[in-house]
Amino acid sequence: MGQGVSVVEETSSDSTTYRIHRVMADAWSHTALKDSLQVVADGVVEVVGFGVAAVSVLHDTGELEVVALSGDDGARDELLGTFSPLSGLLEELTVAEHWGPRLRFVPHERLSQNVSTIGWVPDYEPVDDPDAWHPMDLLIALITDDAGEIRGSMSVDLPDDGMRPGPERRRQLETYAEQAARAIVSAVERARLGERVRLADTARKVVREAAGELSSGPLLDAARQAVVDGFDIQGLWLRTFDDEDDERQRANREGTPIPAAMLEMGDRIARACWEHQRALMVSTRREDWLLSPEEHQRICDFLLAVHVTSILVVPLGAGQECLGVLALARDDTDPDWSDAEIAAALEIGQDLGRALLTARLFERERKLVDELQQLDAYKSRLIATVSHELKTPLSTVIGHVELLDTDDELSSRGQASVQAIGRGAHRLHNLVNSLLMLAKVGDPHNVIEPVLVDIGRALKEVAQLLEMQADDRDVTFDLVTPQDAVVAHGDPYELDQLVTNLASNAVKYSGDGGRVELGVEEGPAAGTLTMWVSDEGLGISESDQQQLFAEFFRSTNPQALAQPGTGLGLTIVARIVERHHGRIEVDSELGVGTTFRVTLPLAP
Ligand code: ADP
Repeated sequence: MGQGVSVVEETSSDSTTYRIHRVMADAWSHTALKDSLQVVADGVVEVVGFGVAAVSVLHDTGELEVVALSGDDGARDELLGTFSPLSGLLEELTVAEHWGPRLRFVPHERLSQNVSTIGWVPDYEPVDDPDAWHPMDLLIALITDDAGEIRGSMSVDLPDDGMRPGPERRRQLETYAEQAARAIVSAVERARLGERVRLADTARKVVREAAGELSSGPLLDAARQAVVDGFDIQGLWLRTFDDEDDERQRANREGTPIPAAMLEMGDRIARACWEHQRALMVSTRREDWLLSPEEHQRICDFLLAVHVTSILVVPLGAGQECLGVLALARDDTDPDWSDAEIAAALEIGQDLGRALLTARLFERERKLVDELQQLDAYKSRLIATVSHELKTPLSTVIGHVELLDTDDELSSRGQASVQAIGRGAHRLHNLVNSLLMLAKVGDPHNVIEPVLVDIGRALKEVAQLLEMQADDRDVTFDLVTPQDAVVAHGDPYELDQLVTNLASNAVKYSGDGGRVELGVEEGPAAGTLTMWVSDEGLGISESDQQQLFAEFFRSTNPQALAQPGTGLGLTIVARIVERHHGRIEVDSELGVGTTFRVTLPLAP
């Protein structure tokens, strides 16, 4: 047993061998036990007729403690709460007369030492009769349990009639000693059960804590240890139904493998147990309706072969599904499983089942994310390679188109064709550039080497760059920048691209004669800057706003769709903002206009 609840040892004194059962102090501190033993002592004094009766219990130190005393006040003051070694008593008892299964009598003339080391000597004048009681006589009942192990003692003195007790009184004393034994054994049992409940409770808590573990391997290892320690068992089989690690789950703590036929039966029992939300106890002493007599016999044969006398089978599961089985094994020093232990084990099966399911889902999800990430990386590589390969021939096409465009000898039909080819080639060129940019800002291996970037200046340069485009539509730029430069820390090319994409969209999706505001300021929080691009154009519907930054997303608004575009500009913007640890927000209303606001860390 764990925590030294009891220790059984054997000692022999000459012809008699005593089994001594020492019990942890907890059992004795129980007031209920002391009260019961007091009733025994009182009975001996009042009913059997003695001046003093003392009951002692045996501690795990090997000492007897007097815990109940009835009769003489002087004896109570002197003896109650005192300790004496059991070994000394047993030595004296080697010469004792056996007056019954428990009762031992040592006449004063046989005592080897002063009896006061064992008990109290009354101040009493002996009567001159061979059957008369002598103050130095020792009459003691050894309190033994069902297994015959010593648990304590009950000694008496001062018989009312001054005589050594005859057969009737000896029988009565035996009965009282038996009563004391029962009180002691049940107190020990109570303490032992309390201890088990406490351990099972600890196991339950540990399993619950382990449930935070999101990989099934470590989760099962932690649970296995908690159950073995918590239930103080000799062996544990833990098996989950869809675990490929067969070796691990087949073995118990000592590595005893389970035969395949037994595994199959275990699975069936676990599923039946889960269906009925119960556990199953199997031992030679106990049959259960869940098992056929043959199954019961097969399990008992197996248990015998692995030196186990009882097992508690507990299903693991969640919802409708039974996910595995726990089998807790005990050998013959342990009796049956208590209700509290069974309840705790069942709860562990449920907690562990739920945790296992979560861990499995999490593992599956992690695997899926890994696969998707690999797929995404592959796609990015493919796009980057194709785009790169397209870039050179496209540049050649554009170069030749420009050359042809200046050829006066070309017919007007030929000129129209060349211009159409030119428009198409430019669109393709834009697409290729966007794809290359997207691949670049989406590549986690491509890290930024930051420098100081004056955002106000970047806005001004972009406005100049887009001047022609804006003029075509009669759109005007307003620049709102503070006197002092507002400086970010980042990749100048990427930040320039960010402003260009937002500003060119603002122009593209503005009506003729619109106004576009480009601005920057420090704040709102300390150490940040805010840059904005506002227009009075088409605006973006609420539903479109949800997908605005997705790759290849283009508006559902036909007016917006009429403008050329790839649906990649804002995706690139969002990635650049993310790479610079910033944030982007959009504020837009259909037919009124749109504002994109980007917050970035200010350069230190
Ligand atoms: P593109 O402009 O090439 O289509 P973007 O990713 O830059 O791709 O923009 C995605 C969509 O968001 C656009 O198709 C457009 O419908 C909408 N959008 C972006 N900016 C604005 C804006 N300033 N005003 C109205 N709609 C916009």
